[in-house]
Amino acid sequence: MTDSLGQHLQKSLHTIKKANWYRQEQKITDLSGCTITIDGQRMINFASNDYLGLATDIRLKQAAMDAVERYGTGSTGSRLLSGHRTLHGELERAIASFKQTEEALVFSSGYLANLGTISALMGKKDLILEDEYNHSSLKNGAKLSQAHRIEYEHLNCQNLIEKLIQVRSQYRHCLIVTDSVFSMDGDVSPLPQLLDIAQKFDCWLMVDEAHGTGVLGKNGAGCLEHFEIKSERIIQIGTLSKAVGSLGGYVAGNKVLIEFLRNRCATWIYTTALSPADTAAALAGINIIRSEAHRRHNLWTNINLLKELFNQTNLKIFPSDSAILCLPLEDASQGLLISAKVRSHGFYVPAIRPPTVPTSRLRFSLMATHEINHLQELIKALIQ
Ligand code: PMP
Repeated sequence: MTDSLGQHLQKSLHTIKKANWYRQEQKITDLSGCTITIDGQRMINFASNDYLGLATDIRLKQAAMDAVERYGTGSTGSRLLSGHRTLHGELERAIASFKQTEEALVFSSGYLANLGTISALMGKKDLILEDEYNHSSLKNGAKLSQAHRIEYEHLNCQNLIEKLIQVRSQYRHCLIVTDSVFSMDGDVSPLPQLLDIAQKFDCWLMVDEAHGTGVLGKNGAGCLEHFEIKSERIIQIGTLSKAVGSLGGYVAGNKVLIEFLRNRCATWIYTTALSPADTAAALAGINIIRSEAHRRHNLWTNINLLKELFNQTNLKIFPSDSAILCLPLEDASQGLLISAKVRSHGFYVPAIRPPTVPTSRLRFSLMATHEINHLQELIKALIQ
């Protein structure tokens, strides 16, 4: 390519490769329980967001097949035109009941839920305060809104308060936005303190429960349930693609919020409704999370065991209160090397590298379906 944009793309790719940041899809041919087959090699999967093992559960598969049988494959239109099925309503009621909110709204993905909700609620005269490690969908939603954006230091409430004291009075509405579980670190946001701050400074608090749902809380509803906090000022947001085992996203909150989004949220109004199969599978997934607590207990047994096994070595992981554990690395090339070595022992553990994260790390995602010997063998492989 000789034109300037073409040359720019080639130069960027060259830089990415030189820094060991180049990424590409894996050739996955089979997935069942906690095993994954890549390029013909069957491994124990430590890279899945399917925390409870529901994505391959027979009941979710059957629900999806029944929905296809009844409604077909596509949803044929947007929710406000021809795309709405009674299944969407059922799923939204199930989410609202699970999350203990008045209502909920289902999106085609978590990314779209975040992008659309923030940009529908906030505008040029408003202020958004975001944890510096927030997920890309939250950051891009804030950018799209054109509100004034300020990042506060990761998990640092004092820093958030200082920023609010400096600027809150200059803006109309204010939204504090945070992941509940940080997806690339595994630590948890101080939600009770954030809610106090939101109340003091007249802000709303938006919490992305993507990695909290199904994992934390007495009934698996997430971090807000874990901390036992509720407020009309809280907007819960999340995905149906991780512990729920399907695809899609949602917003849960008060009636007015959901009614407003139905009328103003571009990523909900102008896109094709979630497919019948995904909707039905998500509904089955939520029902199973609520009725089969043993899955969550198995997951926590595995989390605590792997932490304990790390403790017995000189490998020091990041502090974590979730199903995500991370081992810091010197740099991207060390990450690629260790990931490849561990892979040769039959474990799939990807290295997460910049620009996704500021510093490289090996990221272990635990599942309820991992077995004790998987964790013990993993640690042996890492030590080697
Ligand atoms: N928020 C967080 C914290 C996430 O980790 C993800 C997915 N990686 C999303 C939102 C987006 O969800 P989805 O995959 O459903 O688009």
